[in-house]
Amino acid sequence: MLPVRPPALARLYWPGLLWRMSAKEKSLYLTFDDGPEPRVTPWVLDVLNDFRAEATFFLVGENAGRQPALVDRIRSEGHAVGNHTHRHLNGWRTGSTEYLADVDRAQDLLGARLFRPPYGRITRAQAAALKSRFTIVMWDVLSKDYDSRITPAQCVRNVLGATRNGSIVVFHDSLKAEPNLRHALPAALQEWSRAGFAFKALPMDGSLRR
Ligand SMILES: [Zn+2]
Repeated sequence: MLPVRPPALARLYWPGLLWRMSAKEKSLYLTFDDGPEPRVTPWVLDVLNDFRAEATFFLVGENAGRQPALVDRIRSEGHAVGNHTHRHLNGWRTGSTEYLADVDRAQDLLGARLFRPPYGRITRAQAAALKSRFTIVMWDVLSKDYDSRITPAQCVRNVLGATRNGSIVVFHDSLKAEPNLRHALPAALQEWSRAGFAFKALPMDGSLRR
């Protein structure tokens, strides 16, 4: 089972990947993976709007292809868009040629500068091939909203207990995560707002490239 906060060793092994933004700023970088999903994503956008929060959506290409109006809405409301492969492939179980072709297929729809590997699983060869074109974004805090064995309250504790300045936080705008997300997202945003955090989208201009 994945820990809420990735171990320091993982960060050492993967120095070229982005795990956290600046610790000097009281800002959080919320990210939503696996959408767009017509039942969940519009609700997420409404909640973000209520809190004047900008965020980053790592879209699955085949979902984006089915929901072009939702992709437009995400962009028009000031959020960043990243590539999360076309078919949500596990890099450890997929050859590099197939993996990179799948990223390209999503890229035709998304034109993104940010990439997040599904399941956080990518080989060093795949990462090396993508690094010149994308900032590869991992995370500082995993909400585990997708895990049906945890309660919505536990999901809130996961994120509130681990976030710090510059944290990149993972949520999912997916049907699987929806039961936890519906409770955890507004509850966490309320606490973070009270604590004075700003909510920012990851920069898409390539300035993050390492
Ligand atoms: Zn995913």
